[in-house]
Amino acid sequence: MDKRFIYADNAATTAVSEEVLNAMLPHFRTAYGNASSIYKLGRDAQRDVEEARAKVAKALGADPKEIFFTSCGSESDNWAIKCTAERLAKKGKKHIITSVFEHHAVLHTCEYLEKQGFEVTYIPVSDKGLIDPEDVKNAIREDTALVTIMYANNEIGTIQPIEEIAAICKEKKVLFHTDAVQAVGHIDIDVHKQGIDMLSLSGHKIHAQKGIGALYVRKGIVLPNLIHGGGQERGKRAGTENVPAIVGLGVAMEIACTGIAERNAKILPKRERLIDGLLKLPYTRLNGDREKRLPGNLNISFEGLEGESLLLMLDNYGICGSSGSACTSGSLDPSHVLLSIGLKHEIAHGSLRLSIEDDVTDEDVDYILEVMPTIVERLRSMSPVWERMMKGEAYE
Ligand code: PLP
Repeated sequence: MDKRFIYADNAATTAVSEEVLNAMLPHFRTAYGNASSIYKLGRDAQRDVEEARAKVAKALGADPKEIFFTSCGSESDNWAIKCTAERLAKKGKKHIITSVFEHHAVLHTCEYLEKQGFEVTYIPVSDKGLIDPEDVKNAIREDTALVTIMYANNEIGTIQPIEEIAAICKEKKVLFHTDAVQAVGHIDIDVHKQGIDMLSLSGHKIHAQKGIGALYVRKGIVLPNLIHGGGQERGKRAGTENVPAIVGLGVAMEIACTGIAERNAKILPKRERLIDGLLKLPYTRLNGDREKRLPGNLNISFEGLEGESLLLMLDNYGICGSSGSACTSGSLDPSHVLLSIGLKHEIAHGSLRLSIEDDVTDEDVDYILEVMPTIVERLRSMSPVWERMMKGEAYE
């Protein structure tokens, strides 16, 4: 069996595509103007920024005036949550609703606000990794400023009932923000039709570069600045525009949000084959609902082994995957997402996330399914936890 290189960690980041890179390149060397300058070089940059804004807006069913460029998904989340909270606190609204398994860009922002005197309700998720809209409805109070619920989870890929939650928020006259960093480009999104008030996205998950994101803010919503300074982004987000990255994001959004169904139809059978194949190994479980999940995501726990060792072994075989989100690797705590769906610590530690795209071939799937039993067996043979498990002893 020849060693392969298989990138199955697209939820962590993606390669910049040829089309994106080609669109960006002139903006480093010849078309390098400052979009605020009044001479032609600057005006051209401004035009290109606006063209990119129009592309992002079109891909989301928004108006270009509703799109603001940011430096990343985390900034978009921070801006939407902190600045809405800050504004509405002045009207006596100091309650925020989110879920227990959000990305840390949302969770840590909410924890920061708690320290500033806000109250936060963390909605639980089911063992399938799904939020019940009724829970959101029941949590809304007179003083609720914002509901922020992720569109799709970054670790287990589960897709939340966003339209239902948005409808509840609309009825209750509460603003609704969604972190759609993992959903954009994989699910058809139309912010107006779906009743979304604010939406965060990030370029590096959809083949644009790292360090570019956007926030959609529905017309009519007043969102104070997170970053103060110059008059860029219609005075709402200061800082000289990162023109190459913005142009790249426009192209990436255009490509990612076109032909989603066709791409998913190619990815899904491969994902299903991987799940079926891996679940044949003993003491395994799929984390997250099988149907309501991102097409390229699979997250499987292997009892009696350590996720980090599994990743290193996979790396030796040329396979890139992840256990827990990339942002938390380096931490010894098990993933808060896996704990939130009821996994025991030991089981959460032995989890693998693969996030594939349509470049993964049938041969790649065969290869993964061929090497995994050997890896799992070897790791378990060295694991004291597995040994105790096999002896029927408690191991927690
Ligand atoms: N939200 C979710 C759901 C994510 O998966 C990520 C990144 O992994 C982020 C936010 C943060 O995005 P960025 O890396 O652009 O700051």
